[in-house]
Amino acid sequence: MDLCDLHTHSTASDGTARPAEVVRIAKRIGLRALALTDHDTLAGVEEAGTEARHLGVELIPGCEISLDGVPGTFHMTGLGVDPADRTLRERLDFVRQGREGRNGEIARKLVSLGIPVTMEEVAAEAGGDVVGRPHFARVLVKRGVVRDFREAFDRFLGKGRAAYADRDRLPLADAIAAIHGAGGAAVLAHPYTIGLGDPAEFESWLRGMAAAGLDGLETVYTEHSSADQARFRDLALRCGLLESGGSDYHGDNKAGTEVGVGKGGLRIPYAFWEALRDRARSRPGASAR
Ligand code: AMP
Ligand code: FE
Ligand code: FE
Ligand code: ZN
Repeated sequence: MDLCDLHTHSTASDGTARPAEVVRIAKRIGLRALALTDHDTLAGVEEAGTEARHLGVELIPGCEISLDGVPGTFHMTGLGVDPADRTLRERLDFVRQGREGRNGEIARKLVSLGIPVTMEEVAAEAGGDVVGRPHFARVLVKRGVVRDFREAFDRFLGKGRAAYADRDRLPLADAIAAIHGAGGAAVLAHPYTIGLGDPAEFESWLRGMAAAGLDGLETVYTEHSSADQARFRDLALRCGLLESGGSDYHGDNKAGTEVGVGKGGLRIPYAFWEALRDRARSRPGASAR
């Protein structure tokens, strides 16, 4: 069976491997296709695409957008988007600007807690054009303030913790419209993090998402148990959503999670991508790409 990975990060956002390196790993393990889905940016897609053409891997241009309106964490991937699409680029620019204000606030909170962190230092740690909480976490580990990422998020950076700050997010309808307008498929990433505990409540929320234009659900995911996977597949079927799958590879920023295989056992059928791609292509108004 041909396999793929529809959710990965590079140094363009909060991963530690260069875009080209992520593609090389995909090639080495024999994936047919790889989606690069950096947070709030398409900056890595060109480098990844060049390497992918060179190696004969299919590179699916993508991004991951953070949304709100649920108790937990709400991320959406856009798969197969046109990286040159003006509206999508503008929306992502807006989101990155929102990050800058938020990052300054996190730095100020850390300073007020007696941890002298500067934005220059964090930006240097990031290297790319998206600075996120994992980069703060790396600085805190390097400084010896915390032992590891978990402690950094549990004490300082997690939602509601001592140095947490929120940021402006795109309205749901704008995110879906931007992904669709750029010719892509909109997928709910890692649905286990949504935080709607009651199954009936989650299903009715998901039906609303499908009605709003969501195309797919990431049923196959590194942190999903086989029971989770079966439950989400069932939900996808009932709600008219397609399946997607991803490792959420972040290099050393999520140690133990690897491209394509997650913690070892992940298998993501290439057919997931074919169905998502066909759905995006057959959307009314989609131009032939
Ligand atoms: P940001 O996009 O800057 O809000 O940072 C969110 C990113 O931080 C996520 O995509 C993960 O990569 C990472 N992250 C969030 N929560 C945790 C956690 N508890 N432990 C480790 N990494 C986390
Ligand atoms: Fe991340
Ligand atoms: Fe995510
Ligand atoms: Zn991700």
